[in-house]
Amino acid sequence: MFAGVVINKKTAALNRIFHYQVPEDMPVQVGQVVEVEFGRQKLEAIVIELVENIDYPVEKTKPLLQILNLQQLFGSDLLELSQFAADYYLCSRASLLQAMLPAGMYLTGKMPRSRIVRRVRLADNADVSALRGAKQRRVMELLTAAGGNMLLPQLLEQAEAAWPTVKGLADKGLLVVTEETEWDDGTAAPLLPKHKLTPLQSRVLAEIREEFAGEGRPVLLHGVTGSGKTELYLRLAEETLAQGRQVIVLVPEIALTPQTVRVFQQRFGSGVAVLHSGLTATERRQAWLGIAAGQYRMVIGARSAIFAPVPCLGLIVMDEEHEESYRQDNAPRFHARVLAEERCRLTGAHLLLGSATPDVESYHKARIGKYRLCELPERVSGRPQAEVHLVDMSQEFRRGNNSIFSHLLQQKLVDNLRAGGQSLLFLNRRGYQSFVSCRHCGYVVECPHCSVAMAYHTGEEVLKCHYCGQTAPLPRQCPSCGSPAIRYFGAGTQMIVEAVRRLLPGARVARLDRDSTAERGSYERIYQAMLAGEIDVLVGTQMIAKGLDFPNLTLVGVIAADMALNMPDLKSGERAFQLTTQVAGRAGRHRRGEVVVQTYQPRSDILQAACRQDYQEFYQREILRRKLAAYPPFAALLRIVISAGNMASAIEVGRARAWHIQQQLEQQGAEDKVVYWGPKPCPRAKIKDRHRLQIVLKSESLPLIREIAAQAAARVRLPQDCNLVLDVEPLNIY
Ligand code: ADP
Ligand code: ZN
Ligand code: ZN
Repeated sequence: MFAGVVINKKTAALNRIFHYQVPEDMPVQVGQVVEVEFGRQKLEAIVIELVENIDYPVEKTKPLLQILNLQQLFGSDLLELSQFAADYYLCSRASLLQAMLPAGMYLTGKMPRSRIVRRVRLADNADVSALRGAKQRRVMELLTAAGGNMLLPQLLEQAEAAWPTVKGLADKGLLVVTEETEWDDGTAAPLLPKHKLTPLQSRVLAEIREEFAGEGRPVLLHGVTGSGKTELYLRLAEETLAQGRQVIVLVPEIALTPQTVRVFQQRFGSGVAVLHSGLTATERRQAWLGIAAGQYRMVIGARSAIFAPVPCLGLIVMDEEHEESYRQDNAPRFHARVLAEERCRLTGAHLLLGSATPDVESYHKARIGKYRLCELPERVSGRPQAEVHLVDMSQEFRRGNNSIFSHLLQQKLVDNLRAGGQSLLFLNRRGYQSFVSCRHCGYVVECPHCSVAMAYHTGEEVLKCHYCGQTAPLPRQCPSCGSPAIRYFGAGTQMIVEAVRRLLPGARVARLDRDSTAERGSYERIYQAMLAGEIDVLVGTQMIAKGLDFPNLTLVGVIAADMALNMPDLKSGERAFQLTTQVAGRAGRHRRGEVVVQTYQPRSDILQAACRQDYQEFYQREILRRKLAAYPPFAALLRIVISAGNMASAIEVGRARAWHIQQQLEQQGAEDKVVYWGPKPCPRAKIKDRHRLQIVLKSESLPLIREIAAQAAARVRLPQDCNLVLDVEPLNIY
């Protein structure tokens, strides 16, 4: 017998499944942690399969050294999920299994204190005549007096007895000892009472229950911002826990969703494990092993929490299911929604997706019946969505206003400050457009290593590349034509802050973006200050668009809605709609609110739909656009990215791959089923000094292009510095 293992150490050389002999007297099981010899080292590994035969010389296999942890840390669902994901995304199974293990953590040693408790009951026809010892008699008397049912520790304490006494009675059939899980509901945090559901919430809850009890399809809960989706997640989670099964709650990013996390903690106490990047190695180990041991009944985390080793999964909730952060964009690539669906299928658990602006592909699935669609079209408060004004910025410019703010937004900011309301100004990219260019010849300062414009950072007075971190001083004259008229353009968050200070002297202004929150805890600080009313105007990026609920926020300004719209990508329209709708949804959740959306494209149907918060209208147009262009969900995409330090070798590899794809299509007679482009330079043709080319395949059949791409990639010996990546269902292809 041989054991296939994954070594618990994340290095490229160990990113494989290795086989060892199982010694005859070692009762090893799949999922356990073992010790193996690797070279001269002794390493920890997880057993993922037990097989009779291997295609590797038997003489060369070494024996397993010992079992280190009897607990089965990987359930069969995770092992199967890793195989599914490897096949789906064309990546190695070992890399997935390694991704499932928390980084840099030993699995050996004591498991966290389990909260399993033992309960003792009188057996049904207990015949006490056989009792001799005084201790045994005392145990039986106490138990009878207590109604025939006690927790073991209390029984032992009161009877001044030890476990062997009880065990002796159990062996005689007088007692029954059962194990149950004791839940510590964390009395430290006051548990919040439930809301009484609104009639609409009750109706939708009943619909979801009906679906879960019946056909069991994934449910897409489409509810406008503030419609009380979270309350439904909580109810369904509670019902799942009552059945003794666990819940995984996925959020786009832990640090950006403090309110969602808090609500779950307040309702369910310390039975909730929160997985986030701020945990120390020890905390991560405790959480992970605790989850595997069934100590926690609920896990909240970002996309990789889909791999949480809960022993008995009952429900996965995926909040803001449209968020792109659910797609991991480096190896192993995966979308948490795809894996969530599969994990639910494997375990019989239910999947609940929620969003105010569902992913077009998810909504399409709901429309064609692959998902069950449940809708919450009204806010709990009954309050209408905030009033939205769309402002044409090119008209402002023609009228002589070349400030960042339109007249309307200026007026609203002044009025709102005077009325004591809080304002939020949203720019959808940090350091956006703060590139430096020559007004004379148009020269733009680009990073020497990446094909992107460098961004100007006001505070530090330097240019920075957001891809590789390269910095450069601000040039005094144009390197191309020598003109001194070289300036930075446009509006970064810092510039908006300065503009607000000029407009509203004395107002308390803060900034929330990746740069301002690089320091640990600073997000939390700004968030708390905003809640406490210590900030009048908050300026920020995507980080403020999500899930936040500030009672006194009555004005939202979207500085330049076109930016998302103009990104050359198949999903840019969808992204622009989602962002604008989500940001607008921050306003007026508790008091009357207003939103000003500034744009150079006031006629854009996408922005107009976003301003009316009209998802249906957006969806109808967008799905038609996708259909006409034969884009997902009507076709599948796969991207092959080739990168190399040397342009010529990238081109050579790219051409050979394209030739191979063409050959296969001709041989299979599948030329009319697949379209492909390339090799062509990627939109970011160079990153960190590496040249990048791509080939994009498109077909109605994902398995077909997957097979063709895998073949084309397999038949290649890559030159030394060359790298090839298969990107199945990529986030974008531009
Ligand atoms: P969503 O997630 O759909 O944007 P939330 O779940 O955040 O909406 O709910 C919005 C607000 O309404 C929250 O403050 C929440 O506590 C409150 N809420 C939800 N359900 C109820 C209810 N049935 N009764 C009263 N308040 C509720
Ligand atoms: Zn110039
Ligand atoms: Zn760079």
